[in-house]
Amino acid sequence: FLKGKTAIVTGSTSGIGLAIARALAAEGATLVINGFGEGDAIERERAGLAELNGGAARYDAADMTRPDEIAAMVERTAAEFGSVDIIVNNAGIQHVAPIEAFPVDKFDAILAINLSSAWHMMRAAVPHMKRNGWGRILSTASAHSLVASPNKSAYVAAKHGIAGLTKTIALETATHGITVNCISPGYVWTPLVERQIPDTMASRGLTREQVMNDVLLAAQPTKEFVTAEQVAAFALYLCRDEAKAITGANLSMDGGWTAA
Ligand code: NAD
Repeated sequence: FLKGKTAIVTGSTSGIGLAIARALAAEGATLVINGFGEGDAIERERAGLAELNGGAARYDAADMTRPDEIAAMVERTAAEFGSVDIIVNNAGIQHVAPIEAFPVDKFDAILAINLSSAWHMMRAAVPHMKRNGWGRILSTASAHSLVASPNKSAYVAAKHGIAGLTKTIALETATHGITVNCISPGYVWTPLVERQIPDTMASRGLTREQVMNDVLLAAQPTKEFVTAEQVAAFALYLCRDEAKAITGANLSMDGGWTAA
């Protein structure tokens, strides 16, 4: 149902973004993928997406800390494929430390990648969507857009920011056939989560098993990680015409975490 539509998914060389790119491509969308990684692996992914959608997939190396590179990626996409119909603001990093030990450069990088990049993406893409009278803007927020955990001050601030940005741009685009939503997963088993285990072990003096069961899944009543494929299926649904009334929403997918 996405044949003829072009999607940009930021941070799609790994984890949730990669799963969303695959789900969109499987429905025929032209894909622009983005993120860091090893050249051969990215090329394999790009070729796989082109096979899935039976058409075009391009890799764009835009760094989400660089507003000029973000705008250039959107304009390149519009020039090459004729439109920018779907954007998924998904690139994100994490750092875990108490505020007094939190490196300033890490705070700045998390705000830039997890929040400001979404604003720059929207700023560049909305004019293209308004011109076509159709658009889907999605962001991967987090349960941390609704609740906090200690030692994640930058991440929690950025994700709360995504929720507010989502509401604002939804209001600005509501009469243009554009919807703007964020999905807020609980813990999804991806490299981002795997990488924060050593930091949490160190900062709280715990074993790997204790971090997984007593810290990560402690907040998730289902006691199961969300999967990237579940998030992707939800993102795909939000691109459907049946979902056009859903806008400005922060949609939880967290195994009950924020119900508690
Ligand atoms: P991941 O580490 O697997 O993927 C992150 C992606 O972002 C990678 O493709 C990486 O290359 C890219 N990226 C990082 N810095 C970048 C930069 N400067 N420019 C361009 N790309 C950059 O992580 P993930 O778990 O798949 O996370 C994806 C999103 O989902 C993030 O926004 C994250 O906060 C959010 N999220 C993750 C979880 C979870 O439990 N994994 C839960 C809730 C929300």
